Amino acid sequence: MGSIERIEAVAEKLIGYRDAGNDLVVVVSAMSGETNRLIELAQQVDPQARGRELDVLLTTGEQVTIALLAMALEKRGYPARSYTGAQVRITTDNAFNKARIKSIEHERITDDLARGRVVIVAGFQGVDEDNNITTLGRGGSDTTGVALAAALKADECQIFTDVDGVYTTDPRVEPQARRLDTITFEEMLEMASLGSKVLQIRAVEFAHKYNVPLRVLSSFEDGDGTLITTEYGTDKTMEQPLISGIAFNRDEAQLTINGVSDTPGVAFQILGPIADANIEVDMILQNVSADGTTDFTFTVHRNDYETAFASLQETAGELKAREVSGNNKIVKLSIVGVGMRSHAGIASRMFEILSNEGINILMISTSEIKISVVVDEKYLELGVRALHEGFDLAGAN
Ligand code: ASP
Ligand code: MG
Repeated sequence: MGSIERIEAVAEKLIGYRDAGNDLVVVVSAMSGETNRLIELAQQVDPQARGRELDVLLTTGEQVTIALLAMALEKRGYPARSYTGAQVRITTDNAFNKARIKSIEHERITDDLARGRVVIVAGFQGVDEDNNITTLGRGGSDTTGVALAAALKADECQIFTDVDGVYTTDPRVEPQARRLDTITFEEMLEMASLGSKVLQIRAVEFAHKYNVPLRVLSSFEDGDGTLITTEYGTDKTMEQPLISGIAFNRDEAQLTINGVSDTPGVAFQILGPIADANIEVDMILQNVSADGTTDFTFTVHRNDYETAFASLQETAGELKAREVSGNNKIVKLSIVGVGMRSHAGIASRMFEILSNEGINILMISTSEIKISVVVDEKYLELGVRALHEGFDLAGAN
């Protein structure tokens, strides 16, 4: 929703869906840049602005767009009704700025639909039990859309965004990246948590939980986008791709503590203070011990590197460890695919591809549908392209 022209274009698009016989509930976000503008205003008054009043302010962005879109439809002779989150009654908990939806009263919406109206709902907002206005966190309109789709048992929740779908990897790193026709929720969650930010993660989790088919489409171009579902189509004979995508995360840092005694409680003593500092730990690795001592390595977000390092040095003193070292110039590369479950040898293929490029692997971790490696940041582009090519992602399907 960049401009009035865009709102008019969205109205035209909706009319197309309406004329094809669909009942429509439309969730809109604020005009682009508006939420940031409002946050800046708040910060001019109070640099620490957050909590209840920030939410009262931020929800105005969406109140503008729902009204404008409803007007654009009515002008074209299509009855429409706009509602704020409070009016629908989207009830959330009272965690201002990052509230979670608890329930949705959808009788009024259902009634409007029965009367042939297009219903337009302000995304990203709700009210707590005491009628305080809340917001759902940045990008929260995605979650509003999915939650409404679940409540209304919609056929599909379509999310129109500035990309035309989910790609095998970031096209800015690998121009050969290909749009996927379908991807499973599990894969999408892995891709998202690994840094491919197409949708708000919570929206994908929500859709998965309530089994709402989710489609990501471009708001600017026509196309089928990417459908996110539980399974690959209904044709069970169709072979699942081995690997669906290559994800990466630039914001990694690694810390190591050497020569700690290999006794119960040491891992807790090392990571306890890190957790207390609210620092999220990703990969964890403990070496096989030699001479009764061992080394312990873990990764954190790059922003937390200095704090984690200081905490680890303190622990090292207490544990009489040999030394603490770290590296904040590392990245994580991951291959993701549900096809991995039924195929052996994918990890070794991944390591072979990387070794052919002379890329040294610093850490490895695996899950059922993902293999991640940590490498020096200078290998990010090379590594992503080599894996994309090596697993034939540009040509698959
Ligand atoms: N306008 C809100 C934001 O910018 C919600 C959204 O865009 O989904 O975060
Ligand atoms: Mg958005």
